[in-house]
Amino acid sequence: MIAPAPGDPVGELRARIAACTLCAAHLPLGPRPIARFSATARILIIGQAPGTKVHNSGVPWDDDSGDRLRDWLGIDKATFYDEEKVAQMPMGFCYPGRAAGGDAPPRQECAPQWHDAVLRLLPAERLTLLVGVHAQARYLPHLKRLGLTERVSRFGEDLPFIALPHPAWRSRMWMAKHPWFEADILPSLRDRVHDALAQVIL
Ligand code: SF4
Repeated sequence: MIAPAPGDPVGELRARIAACTLCAAHLPLGPRPIARFSATARILIIGQAPGTKVHNSGVPWDDDSGDRLRDWLGIDKATFYDEEKVAQMPMGFCYPGRAAGGDAPPRQECAPQWHDAVLRLLPAERLTLLVGVHAQARYLPHLKRLGLTERVSRFGEDLPFIALPHPAWRSRMWMAKHPWFEADILPSLRDRVHDALAQVIL
């Protein structure tokens, strides 16, 4: 990694995160933190944790789930991966390993260790997309008694936070059961994303 220039807080934080070994003893493939951010991004996506594919490639959301998420947001790959416009900060930055039924939950050490430092560097006015239950538990704790569907249905009531289901293949079944998500929420979500991107000052 190239050393950050003096007085470059974004570069310094990226370097500190890249060197993190806080929970290395619990990571079966070792640390490889995935987080993308800048001081200009007006959209922040808080997801769960990398899978093995992302651990190997270093590119988050480069799969069917990512295609579905980009479709929900109404943005192309070039915009999605432009960290001056869109920041991505999972609840756990490194692949956490397997658990019964799938990947393990994000390492619980990670968000308390790094999230506030990243948030301090982002513009104060931003749209934060909480993708999946782990991000929603941290950032919408007052809604923890609600189910995912109820949290998603509150679109616009918890701004700047917007709760979304994880866009894994299972979300197609969830969307089929809840057609209001596609009919009502996605058009409004795309408008909000468009407005947030329009505020980016490079
Ligand atoms: S998951 Fe987070 S806390 Fe653990 S080693 Fe990776 S960056 Fe550090």
